[in-house]
Amino acid sequence: MKDLAKRAILASGAMRLISPGASAAILMYHSVMPDPALHADSLGGIIHSESEFRAQMELLRRHYHPLSLDEVVENLKTGKPSPKRSVVVTFDDGYADNCDIAMPVLDQLGIPATFYVTVDCIEQRKLPWPSRLRFAFRKTKLPAWADGRGNSWRLHDLDARERAYLASCDECCQLSGRAQEDFVRRVEEQFQTAVPADSGSLIMTYEQIRALAQHGHIVGSHTMTHPNMAYITEDQAKLELAESKQRLEQTLKAPIRHFSYPCPAMTPHWSEQTVAQSRSVGYDSAVTTNGGVTRCGDRPLSLKRIRPTKTAEGLRWNLECAFAGRAM
Ligand SMILES: [Zn+2]
Repeated sequence: MKDLAKRAILASGAMRLISPGASAAILMYHSVMPDPALHADSLGGIIHSESEFRAQMELLRRHYHPLSLDEVVENLKTGKPSPKRSVVVTFDDGYADNCDIAMPVLDQLGIPATFYVTVDCIEQRKLPWPSRLRFAFRKTKLPAWADGRGNSWRLHDLDARERAYLASCDECCQLSGRAQEDFVRRVEEQFQTAVPADSGSLIMTYEQIRALAQHGHIVGSHTMTHPNMAYITEDQAKLELAESKQRLEQTLKAPIRHFSYPCPAMTPHWSEQTVAQSRSVGYDSAVTTNGGVTRCGDRPLSLKRIRPTKTAEGLRWNLECAFAGRAM
């Protein structure tokens, strides 16, 4: 739909009239930087500019009802409806800018947020593997790459590189821990590429994670090594859930109750088995990247989220469509 038509519909308030029942929209952010273009070769399109992020948070403060994840999960458990047009702000992966750039904006506007961090990346000071592979496939001078099944992928232009990169993600997302690190290193060595030496500083430190908690925000787990949880073995999945929880609890001296499923490649990215595992490990909630709002009766261990587009007006359209129960 054309922007002008969207603006007219938003201004008329018509979407509000068709919003059914109480619900909460859980927004999924990753990174907020002054200049998103600077790190596009590694992080890709997951960065919001600082100015657009601020505009989006001001929009939430003015037109919606920002709630903490704890409140929404509590409401789901007790059956109490969340206030109409509730929104929850979440961040995945654990980038340092979450603390340095996003938190001051959130605090100034009084918006509580949840930050899901990838524990191995925090401890090893390294980017999540999809960013390292993206960088390798964008920068290599090699003409082709052979995947694990022996298929050859040409790397002659940007589109071909992107297709090969996505194929490498399909392979790597099924690995966790050491095997995953070995896969990424093999590609980096073969391609003679490596993300810039200081790229580890894009990831939060434990000190920054403690600061988030001290400012009243929620810290949750985004696994140890960012695999697709539905494609790794039961034991590996258990370790990703339990060990990340335990390490964060040791660091923060507080219970870690919330989990976020990585969605690096392939579908599905969670299963009934991972839901049961996350429950037995002791999580109260888990968010997925399935799109949509959270309504009364939804299960806290497989919550839907909304990917915010990059502008404030775009976000408003995302939210109005989601609350009206429409696909975006
Ligand atoms: Zn992630």
